[in-house]
Amino acid sequence: MEKKELLYEGKAKRLYATENTDQLIAEFKDDLTAFNAEKKGSEQGKGALNCKISTELYALLSANGVKTHLIETLDENHQLVKSVEIIPIEVVVRNTATGSLSKRLGIEDGKVLPFTLVEFYLKDDDLNDPIITDDHCMLLELVDDRAKLDILKQKGLQINRLLKDFFAERRLNLVDFKVEFGIDKEGEILLSDEISPDSCRFWDMDSGEKLDKDRFRENLGNVKVAYEEVLKRILGDVL
Ligand code: UDP
Repeated sequence: MEKKELLYEGKAKRLYATENTDQLIAEFKDDLTAFNAEKKGSEQGKGALNCKISTELYALLSANGVKTHLIETLDENHQLVKSVEIIPIEVVVRNTATGSLSKRLGIEDGKVLPFTLVEFYLKDDDLNDPIITDDHCMLLELVDDRAKLDILKQKGLQINRLLKDFFAERRLNLVDFKVEFGIDKEGEILLSDEISPDSCRFWDMDSGEKLDKDRFRENLGNVKVAYEEVLKRILGDVL
């Protein structure tokens, strides 16, 4: 399958058309951004690492009944995916308080939450991705039916259960993550976009070390080393 015209360029990926209108090619970039792209950087090989990590996690989720947009991984930084209409809601699932949750509500950083929290954020860089309620989603017509919001929450929780256990076996604490969903032409809701250390927080269960994009956000260094470590753990090479 060959890349045709560039349809969209995001912060971490480019999307290309293919000869099949139902299929797109996603290219993983080495660029890193944080704080709504106020902070920019690049890490050679980061795109390939995220492509591999996302491929592995999608395979796990797919094997456990989560429907996704991924058709096949083409090479080290390209995936063939189903063309979907992205629902402009970022679904954030949290097991441990940190980041914006701790800042906004004053919950101690690192506190294990008494239950898994699911939040919706509006996918809109101009507005700085604000947190939104179900009613806001309906008001903005982000979905055509309120029941879809419950489906998004349930899917977020299902993905969390599968990934949290998988990573716990590999001594990584899945602190929180963001997922996005799209609707295909049959009207099916599919997990879309990537799941990688750009979109998840992973803390080493023994040392507490951060092994995700917070290394870039907080200038901790060794960003690529951390992503490589996540991939190693995924592939079963537990240290
Ligand atoms: N996240 C993301 N994209 C965003 C915002 C958040 O992938 O545009 C992920 C982030 O990496 C973390 C989770 O969602 O795993 C929760 O992020 P939070 O709301 O704490 O935001 P932050 O502290 O990064 O502003």
